[in-house]
Amino acid sequence: MIYFDSTATSKPIPEIIELYEKTINSCWFNPSSNYTLGLRSNSLFEQAKQSVCKTLKLTNHEILFPSSATMANNIAIFGICNNYRGTKKRIITTFIEHPSVYNVYKSLEKDFDVIYLKTDNDGIIDLNQLKESLNKETILVSVMWVNNIIGSVQPIGEIIEILKQYPRCKLHVDAVQAVGKIDLFNVDLNKIDLITISSHKLGGLKGTAVLAYNNKIDLASHFIGASQQKGLVPGTMDLAGAVCCAKIIDISVTNQKENDIYVSKLKNHLIDRIEELNNVQLNSNLSNKNTALYSNYIVSLFIKGKRAETVMHYLEKKDIYVSIGSACSSKQQTIDRTILSISNDKDRGISSIRVSLSVNNTIEEVDYLVDTLKEYLGGVKNVW
Ligand code: PMP
Repeated sequence: MIYFDSTATSKPIPEIIELYEKTINSCWFNPSSNYTLGLRSNSLFEQAKQSVCKTLKLTNHEILFPSSATMANNIAIFGICNNYRGTKKRIITTFIEHPSVYNVYKSLEKDFDVIYLKTDNDGIIDLNQLKESLNKETILVSVMWVNNIIGSVQPIGEIIEILKQYPRCKLHVDAVQAVGKIDLFNVDLNKIDLITISSHKLGGLKGTAVLAYNNKIDLASHFIGASQQKGLVPGTMDLAGAVCCAKIIDISVTNQKENDIYVSKLKNHLIDRIEELNNVQLNSNLSNKNTALYSNYIVSLFIKGKRAETVMHYLEKKDIYVSIGSACSSKQQTIDRTILSISNDKDRGISSIRVSLSVNNTIEEVDYLVDTLKEYLGGVKNVW
């Protein structure tokens, strides 16, 4: 099997599976129990939180371990907005967010003045539009760090600078495709109010994610239950999940630079060879300015005249796995918002596949993908 879909999910690494087994077997107790076994479990849970803070150099953040990044994004946005229901305060996000942000903002349109920032052809938000949209009534801005469809990297450092004039406005960053994939430390993460991370994209397990939030923020509970995890993630805590989540974040951040060097070679090789393909174009740097930054882990390809689904199934028959749009929305047959935002071209939206690269892929696999596409698309290169 040749798996080019690590943006959707990744195979858990053996070290994490072992750690899960060890922790669940030795410490399966309820961390909220008041006897020693419970207290010991709780203390391990606290250590997992501290480990995330240490890895991300966070000194003023509280850590929650919700069950997915989707939950983390919901808890973050509702956590801020539920304090302001009905006030019509302004909240700002982008057209290219993951549905777990975009659809939450959509659901808030009745109670809030919602602004969606456009992107340029390279998938980068317009900072002037952000500046013009901000006002004293703005309480929240959500911007994803790395887009999950085309891999564009947003200028989070500049956004932090712009928001300094609006101390009341909180910044929420969905960093799911950024952690372990780009260098995070160009930015002081303490300056981001709310950060979302997912563990199953990194070689960790499904079922645990992180929401890191500034401990001065009073987040409103969105779920009703007992008081676990500040009442924001009520329900019995998943100690083994949290321990593994903290570990995979640590491993991914520690190995980020080395992994990026390897994956960038795969990406460059893929991009070089795409030249050989008939009617295939990259969905990045469409502006031809070549200034935008992209993750090395995501390559989006427009295959003119072919439905992405058909291409995906052809590749599947050859034991190659890529995706059409994001796995979360690909069953809905909607045209991808990100592709529309960069191109305003429905055909491009229908005919784009996402190739996700990872340290588990090889140059030979990239060659096999290109050769298979070549065989499928046939002929001599002719379009662009
Ligand atoms: N945000 C981004 C940018 C993502 O890529 C994803 C997963 N596709 C999510 C959020 C949701 O992650 P999860 O599967 O953990 O809910």
